[in-house]
Amino acid sequence: MPGHTFIFGLADGRVIDGSVGGNSARWLNHSCQPNCEAIEDGRGRVFIETLRDVMPGDELFIAYGLTTDEVITPGLVADFACRCGKRRCTGSMLALASE
Ligand SMILES: [Zn+2]
Repeated sequence: MPGHTFIFGLADGRVIDGSVGGNSARWLNHSCQPNCEAIEDGRGRVFIETLRDVMPGDELFIAYGLTTDEVITPGLVADFACRCGKRRCTGSMLALASE
């Protein structure tokens, strides 16, 4: 599906494809003001840690920080539009748009 990814990039260039045997973390949505962050353990595993207290039933969000080798076009930006609704929403899940 265009604009939909479960790929998690590791610092060493490898990726974890959450669509192949992934766990429920692949369903984490993006927010420009997330309540979680992804922590890589240096051994190819990624942990989701909360940035603040969360209550049972709260939705967990991370900042995707998506990168691409493609030329940034209005169509590409639209494919990765953010609708998190946070006060500081950048309007995009692409990391380049937030810089
Ligand atoms: Zn946003």
